[in-house]
Amino acid sequence: MIFMIFLSVFFLPFAHLETILREDWGGEYPARRAPMTTPVQYFVIHHTATGRCFNRRACSKIVRTIQNYHMKHRGWSDIGYNFLVGEDGNVYEGRGWRTVGAHAPGYNSKSIGLSFIGNFSSKKPNQKALTAAKELIRYAINHNKLKMNYKLIGHRQTKMTDCPGTALYKEISTWPNWVKRL
Ligand SMILES: [Zn+2]
Repeated sequence: MIFMIFLSVFFLPFAHLETILREDWGGEYPARRAPMTTPVQYFVIHHTATGRCFNRRACSKIVRTIQNYHMKHRGWSDIGYNFLVGEDGNVYEGRGWRTVGAHAPGYNSKSIGLSFIGNFSSKKPNQKALTAAKELIRYAINHNKLKMNYKLIGHRQTKMTDCPGTALYKEISTWPNWVKRL
């Protein structure tokens, strides 16, 4: 017990960002890939408008359902987002850093699209998900995937949509590099 407390107090702040790869969430391989030139200028926040999830098994299932919907019903080559994040604190790989997404027309080739799993219109995601998203942004800057002077935006700033939900949109508008005008 004391050991556990020691672990959480001293190690959690330094915990690494865990990315769940396609193979690990049970995803299909993309039909084709359009390579993306990085670093990109924009980081676009979405929500999936699905149920929420708090463990890897449940989150993986939702990600598979979304991929199936995007590929089978919309006819896309892959799940639309570059990444997704669950309230289990994990980041799920979608198209990743090197493939153009299908999430915000007009911005796909110049952005990374991250979708929070759940519907965040009236309630924002939990701290685990918010922290994971911020770590992903930091990783992107440190690995030259995102420009230093990047612009953080919500999907609703690019078209008429509720996405990423009002509560989440309010939250990201307090984050560094969020811009009111694109
Ligand atoms: Zn969206």
